[in-house]
Amino acid sequence: MNLDEVSARLTEVVGERHVLTRVSELLVYSSDGLPGYRKQPTLAVFPGTRDETIAVVRILAEAKLPFVPRGAGTGLSGGALADGVVLLGLHRLKNIISIDVENRRAKVEPGVVNLKLNRTVAPKGLMYAPDPSSEAACTIGGNIAENAGGPHCLKNGVTLNHILALTVILPSGEIVELGAEEGERDGYDLRGAFIGSEGCFGIALDITVRLIPRPQVIRTMLCDFTTVDAAARVTSAIVASGVIPAALEFLDGPMIRVVESSIYAAGYPKDAEAVLLVELDGLQEGVDADLETVRRLALDGGARNVKVARDEVERLRLWQGRKKAFGAMGRLSPHLVVQDAVIPRSRLAEILGRIEGIRQKYGVIVCNVFHAGDGNLHPNIPYNADDPEESERVHLAMKEIMQACVSVGGSITGEHGVGLDKMGYMDLIFDPVSLAAMCDLRDAFDPERRANPAKVIPTHRCREWMAAPSARASAKAVQA
Ligand SMILES: Cc1cc2nc3c(=O)[nH]c(=O)nc-3n(C[C@H](O)[C@H](O)[C@H](O)COP(=O)(O)OP(=O)(O)OC[C@H]3O[C@@H](n4cnc5c(N)ncnc54)[C@H](O)[C@@H]3O)c2cc1C
Repeated sequence: MNLDEVSARLTEVVGERHVLTRVSELLVYSSDGLPGYRKQPTLAVFPGTRDETIAVVRILAEAKLPFVPRGAGTGLSGGALADGVVLLGLHRLKNIISIDVENRRAKVEPGVVNLKLNRTVAPKGLMYAPDPSSEAACTIGGNIAENAGGPHCLKNGVTLNHILALTVILPSGEIVELGAEEGERDGYDLRGAFIGSEGCFGIALDITVRLIPRPQVIRTMLCDFTTVDAAARVTSAIVASGVIPAALEFLDGPMIRVVESSIYAAGYPKDAEAVLLVELDGLQEGVDADLETVRRLALDGGARNVKVARDEVERLRLWQGRKKAFGAMGRLSPHLVVQDAVIPRSRLAEILGRIEGIRQKYGVIVCNVFHAGDGNLHPNIPYNADDPEESERVHLAMKEIMQACVSVGGSITGEHGVGLDKMGYMDLIFDPVSLAAMCDLRDAFDPERRANPAKVIPTHRCREWMAAPSARASAKAVQA
């Protein structure tokens, strides 16, 4: 089948409006949340129902065409970019299929937006815990593919801990059921293997999520510091005290000033060098006691001020600054790189000091906003990707930051996935045998290696492309 024939078959299934082939239309899908990367799909298809999605995948299987699943495109690792292959958009699949209050679970389609799910279940006293800061746009399908985290994953766990069951369309077009709505089954944990597979194992279609009761009480506090070091040490002290905050987030001075000069201003003190946003939730008595413990630790650790939000309006304002921090950075430069390294929390002060040294060495701007309680760092470097000299400095600074994090026992990604962006760092933490084992697992789901090709595993390690001549031939045919 050539591209015109494939396009005609897809159009029969989803309708003319939902198949794009013009370069001008495809441009919209050439990037994700990391605007420094641009890759153009040859065709984009947007099924509107479950049956249409299955039919689309089967046509692509018949034509042996590689494809890239895409949710909302908010990913921060270039994972949803289709480089000369088919882009399969899932954002039209946005039905909440069922909500089972008694058993605290819901079944959703993959294009359901995270916040929409939460707003729908909130009146029933329930919540879906993982809350990426992109929750107003990102989809549950994309969250599964990246094993997304979020500020409140410190206490409640990441996406993996909140997905009970999945119906998956394999790239061959076959349907498999992973996990179980009722809880765990014997056998290999293929649900666990699929979560975090970054679109390389197939498409998450029907998703059963775990819901948890909303907490009785929520208290949110802002602790501000005149040094980054003091805030880092207080972070470790809070965790060591045994208090488990619902969220423990960190913004450094440069990030505070970016937020405060934007429309997302949250009332953070502009002269502070760091703030900690600490949220505690649970039963009234426990939360009151924890709040006093955190207040004392912060003040003893050098906090200038500890402010507790008086009401929901104040609380949401404090969160607005944190959740919109990436967006606020859009005013600084046309492009942005975001690192996602994880480090042992006890090394936080040391690593932030090393990042400052790297910043000075390369003459770049670094703004830090991150999930401090999880040790999941997000150094952001705004830059202009059209300036080759600046891009080179940014690239070198990022690499050195990553090496510093790995050198203290850290990892290259906590929640954004490897995608394209972190692929070059995989060798830092995995040996060739481990990478080959990952390729073998991928082959079990997708032996033709057509789903999200050339992502995650560096090709020289697993001979990914070389061993998949069918995929390469098809990609060439599509490009012709
Ligand atoms: C401002 C901002 C804040 C963010 N904050 C956080 C945060 O706090 N925590 C966090 O974890 N992430 C965060 N992110 C990153 C991003 O939002 C998450 O990775 C999110 O899970 C991506 O969802 P998406 O629907 O946009 O997926 P996309 O970007 O469209 O795709 C991401 C990956 O998922 C695959 N995929 C998409 N749908 C499916 C499906 N149904 N089946 C199989 N594979 C699929 C794609 O192929 C791709 O590899 C943030 C991003 C932004 C822009």
